[in-house]
Amino acid sequence: MKCRQCNEKLHVQRRCRQVRLRCSGCGREYQIHEVAADLDPETELELERFTCIIYD
Ligand SMILES: [Zn+2]
Repeated sequence: MKCRQCNEKLHVQRRCRQVRLRCSGCGREYQIHEVAADLDPETELELERFTCIIYD
């Protein structure tokens, strides 16, 4: 899915026990719950690779 700020692709990033979506363009990070409504199937698949996601 795309960054709301610059339209670059977001990548799933795992940090400690938290998962974030990070923009490859501007570096902005999104919490999962911020973008949950907009998740596309590709991103959801990426998220599914993380077995114990914490939606904080
Ligand atoms: Zn961006």
